[in-house]
Amino acid sequence: VLVPMQLAYIGLGSNLEQPREQIKRALQSLGELPETKLLDDSGFYESKPMGPSDQPDYVNAVAELETALDAETLFRHCQSIEQQQGRIRQRHWGERTIDLDVLLYGQEQIDTTDLTVPHPGIGQRDFVYLPLLKISPDIVIPGKGALKEIVQSCASDETDYACTFAGNIK
Ligand code: ATP
Ligand code: CA
Ligand code: CA
Repeated sequence: VLVPMQLAYIGLGSNLEQPREQIKRALQSLGELPETKLLDDSGFYESKPMGPSDQPDYVNAVAELETALDAETLFRHCQSIEQQQGRIRQRHWGERTIDLDVLLYGQEQIDTTDLTVPHPGIGQRDFVYLPLLKISPDIVIPGKGALKEIVQSCASDETDYACTFAGNIK
């Protein structure tokens, strides 16, 4: 049976308990998901926290996957990776060991109670669009257009978390 493969992009973020190790571990787990291949990663990015400012700076990355899992199943796996890595939700946009957001799933547009894809933060957060554009400079956001055009038309002070590239992931 031929299962259609989709390209999916996952946004990762951590600011607790050795953030770089947390990102690496989550990337490894993504690469071990059933019917899924980790094609690429953005490398590490460092950024200022969104939301409460009395928390450590973040390490972020984006992963590019090829998967035969449907979007909902991929999302459930992301949640279980968060659980494995001890994610505890205390306050909105608060500190976390790992956050995995399904940024894009092929050209699909999904809006259920649990899952919104494309992720609404993509064009508004430099720590998402910079690593995503690094992997895929010409990426198109379904329903919205080319990401680099979207980013150019956003007021930069509203998307600026001082995100900078911080090295390859080995
Ligand atoms: P944000 O979603 O603004 O980046 P956050 O990542 O801190 O904030 P979480 O507490 O991790 O928010 O997730 C809150 C809820 O977001 C989850 O329970 C999940 O159901 C929902 N959600 C909706 N769309 C997505 C998506 N594309 N990827 C991950 N979670 C999503
Ligand atoms: Ca998030
Ligand atoms: Ca999340």
